[in-house]
Amino acid sequence: MRAADLYRLRRIVDGGHGARIVVDGRACLNFCANDYLGLAGDPRLAAAARGALEQGTGSGAAALVSGYNREHAALEEELADFLRRPRALLFSSGWAANLGVLRALLGREDLLIADELNHASLIDGGRLSGARYVRAAHAQVADFARALEAAPADAGCLRLIATDSVFSMDGDLAPLPALSGLAARHGAALMVDDAHGFGVLGAGGRGALEACGAEADILMTGFGKALGTAGAAIVGSETLIEYLIQRARTWVFSTAPPPALAAATRAALALVRADEGAERRARLRGLIARFRAGAAQLGLPLSDSETAIQPLVLGEAARALAVSRALYERGYWVAAIRPPTVPAGTSRLRITLSAGHAEAEVDGLLAALAAALASP
Ligand SMILES: *Cc1c(COP(=O)(O)O)cnc(C)c1O
Repeated sequence: MRAADLYRLRRIVDGGHGARIVVDGRACLNFCANDYLGLAGDPRLAAAARGALEQGTGSGAAALVSGYNREHAALEEELADFLRRPRALLFSSGWAANLGVLRALLGREDLLIADELNHASLIDGGRLSGARYVRAAHAQVADFARALEAAPADAGCLRLIATDSVFSMDGDLAPLPALSGLAARHGAALMVDDAHGFGVLGAGGRGALEACGAEADILMTGFGKALGTAGAAIVGSETLIEYLIQRARTWVFSTAPPPALAAATRAALALVRADEGAERRARLRGLIARFRAGAAQLGLPLSDSETAIQPLVLGEAARALAVSRALYERGYWVAAIRPPTVPAGTSRLRITLSAGHAEAEVDGLLAALAAALASP
């Protein structure tokens, strides 16, 4: 792995998280986090957590035993209300949510049709379920349709389409209205992983489904990205949630998250819903447009993404590492993304923007990129 420039190292961040961080002892502007609204270091979230921490740290047990705290129940209700769906169920991570749902709903006799660029947790959940797994070409609705036509509905069998809403390494959007229509026409179900859309897309911050006016049977909303905390929820029908409470193994057999984390997420959700959330989303959109215009002017190889994820595909892993290091030396932290996270030959800088950045900081990144890319 070392010889192929694929060895991974962790970098130590000191202090809080935000647009400005200290990485391995050097103060940097952070342009690779998923903290799209700049909430991860917000003192109001910390204050909410601190208040709940007065009563203790751990939840003590799984939710079905004694770990289901009032804070968890309130967050579930607020989420369902915000997303205008009947119920929500908290999981300790997006990984746990995706694995738990797919394993609970699908068995050998069922069919899963998944976008080939889906997040690793959807891929592993699908494999673990034992269902027949069809990889559809990225965002190609016709490919999803072919898979459904090749496997007609069978009484008692579930056919599930699963897709990321925003693809995490490319920033492009799934064709959600078309997939939702396709699922409806074929009596199939649609699951959308909105880890990168929740809080940040849609006029109200409800996510990718709101942004494009589509519906899904199963929605995964993560809190570790735009909401700036950690954990996730599955949102859907009464029956879905009740079923998961009986059968989702990553939920049933796992300690409930700390109540203080739910309190922080409730504070984040309140901000996302308030005018401030709309202001932060508008600010982020402005920064994305500014970055794209500046990058186009510099002739940088921009990707086809309108979201806060703006990858610069550089090719070989060694090249991505060298440019990342050159940026770091100029005080910009943009981690290099290499295989197996992305396909071979498409190593990249996964640049992300945040409402926590200033316009001048985006301009500074562009200048640093131009300089770093110019040197061999
Ligand atoms: C981050 C992410 C997850 C996993 O969520 P965690 O809460 O970090 O475990 C799942 N799906 C997608 C698309 C993600 O980007």
